[in-house]
Order: sequence, then structure tokens, then C-alpha cells
Amino acid sequence: MNNLERSWMYERLDGRGSLYSRFVTGVDEFIQFACSQPNRMSGDKVRCPCAKCQNYKFMDVETVKSHLYQSGFIENYFIWKNQGERDDISETSYGTALHGGGQLIFEENPYRQMILDVAGPNFS
Ligand SMILES: [Zn+2]
Repeated sequence: MNNLERSWMYERLDGRGSLYSRFVTGVDEFIQFACSQPNRMSGDKVRCPCAKCQNYKFMDVETVKSHLYQSGFIENYFIWKNQGERDDISETSYGTALHGGGQLIFEENPYRQMILDVAGPNFS
């Protein structure tokens, strides 16, 4: 998901102060996504990413919708992390490290790395 596809998030009101229909359907998509991530929810409530709640508060979906209609999204919230969406950038670097010979544990553990350095390539 790139930023351009989510440009609707910050195009909320037209010149007459009405909600763009793309914003309304986008909010529906957001709610659908948030509700598909039960382990990021609190009961049937989801974190509200509106400019006021800033993902700190759990709200029922109708409240989240009205908040987003009224206040819009928190700034630069193109990746819905607090609702369970993966950050593509960090996921990619994690995947690369993991595929680089399965050395991820060593890279994250300086003590193991030190043993490897001392023992040399014959260490198994
Ligand atoms: Zn809110």
C-alpha cells in the first residue's frame, strides 16, 4: 500500500465543506480493515485514528466514523499500524535479514556474534 493510494485520507472536504464521497468510502474501508484485526481491538471497539484521539482511545466504529468525518485522520497515518497493518518498509528489511542465511538471531544478539567472531567459520 503506497501513500498515493491513500491520498483520500487527507482530501476530506470539498470547497463547500461537504465530505468527498471517496473519503466516506475510504473511511468504510478503514473500518472494515480495523474490524478484521480482532487482536488489535478492544471488544468491538477499535483505536480511533482521528486528529483528536490520535489512536489513544478505543471507540465503537460509528463513533470512529463520525470523528473521522469531523476531524480527519491524524497526520501522516498512511499505514494503519495501530489497527494492525504491517509497515511494508520494516517488513521488507526483516524479510531480507531472515533470508540472508537465517542469521537473524546472531545479528540481534551481540554476545552470540562475539562467539562467532572468536570461533571463526568452523563454529557450528
Ligand atoms: Zn476520535
